[in-house]
Amino acid sequence: MSQELDLETMRDRLFEYLRNGGCNAVGVCTQDGLEGGPPSTDLTRQLEGARSAIVISYPLDEHILDLYMGKIDHEPYQKHYIQTNNIVQGLMGEASNQLRKFGYEAEVVYAGNTPADGTKTDVMPSNDRQRKAAELNPASDPYVAMGILPVISQRMLAAASGVGFFGMSGNILTESHGAAIVLGACVTNAELPPTPVLGQEVNYCDECNWCGQVCPTSFMSETEFTTVKMGEHDHHKYSAREHPMRCASHMQGLTGLSENGKFSSWGPGRKQLPENDDEIFPSLIEIATNTANRPAVPGGFYDAQNGTKTNIMCSACNLVCHPEKKVRAKRLKMWTKGGVTVQHEDGRVEAMPHDEARAFLDAMPIERRALYEDV
Ligand code: SF4
Ligand code: SF4
Repeated sequence: MSQELDLETMRDRLFEYLRNGGCNAVGVCTQDGLEGGPPSTDLTRQLEGARSAIVISYPLDEHILDLYMGKIDHEPYQKHYIQTNNIVQGLMGEASNQLRKFGYEAEVVYAGNTPADGTKTDVMPSNDRQRKAAELNPASDPYVAMGILPVISQRMLAAASGVGFFGMSGNILTESHGAAIVLGACVTNAELPPTPVLGQEVNYCDECNWCGQVCPTSFMSETEFTTVKMGEHDHHKYSAREHPMRCASHMQGLTGLSENGKFSSWGPGRKQLPENDDEIFPSLIEIATNTANRPAVPGGFYDAQNGTKTNIMCSACNLVCHPEKKVRAKRLKMWTKGGVTVQHEDGRVEAMPHDEARAFLDAMPIERRALYEDV
């Protein structure tokens, strides 16, 4: 009986379910609408015969976000972010179930920032579409070497489906909640009708570069940009990304202090990555060993496959970005004036003014202090 529904009605009923579940934006993109994007826009990588994808955005709680951006409390945001990812995965799991009940195949796309499903999917181009896509959108060497190219890029799907648009940070901005969102997607062999790409007139990115100013490291290039054309649409350019470990070292809390020494992410480390990309990996051996010998930060994503845990210690570039400029300005100030992070012996991280943080570090036994800064 369900199969008697036309595809548009089916799509709109699923949208209703997803909006009722708390999504601030929903959309659909098709293989045609993604044509021209990087290889990670070929939906058949995830599901043979896939024709379309449902894409959602779920907003983060603004009060919890303020505690995090204001360096008042780390734990509530980390917990909330993980829970929101789980909600998004659940919504996409149920949307996939519903599509199967309608008689189609469907699969959830694993989010880049949740522990992956352990898939060993080869993300190097494996068909003509992907080879052409890779020529148009070449991946940089460190991404290939580290094997961190996504199977399916939810960002690309979100831009192609009109769920949001690219800002200069490269994050997806949504009309109502900016970039303080979690994306989700599922792919299906149902050819659901696509929703339109958002017009340039609703893209509020005014290139303020506050996403760059809250970034403690040099990850977003100020001189080079990436542009993506998918289907008939030229999407908003965004800053080219530098070596991925510059961001990852802050996201995972290996490092924390900003390059200018004025603020920090939530990571308590003060050692800096070298300017030269070729020297990053050797220096990471020391920094990662230091981190492993520090007390564990409470909470975090637990990866049951590997038995490892990952903490969320940055994300400032997306959390700062709000459609209202005064909210953006408030978050910029909170993050960059909120002090610098230190770590207690029980693992908790706390931000405090520079002089107090200095005294805190100076009071440590030298072998403990060496886990955080050069001594
Ligand atoms: S912070 Fe400013 S420059 Fe960055 S994405 Fe948002 S609006 Fe654009
Ligand atoms: S997550 Fe943090 S370190 Fe990474 S790009 Fe954003 S602001 Fe920079």
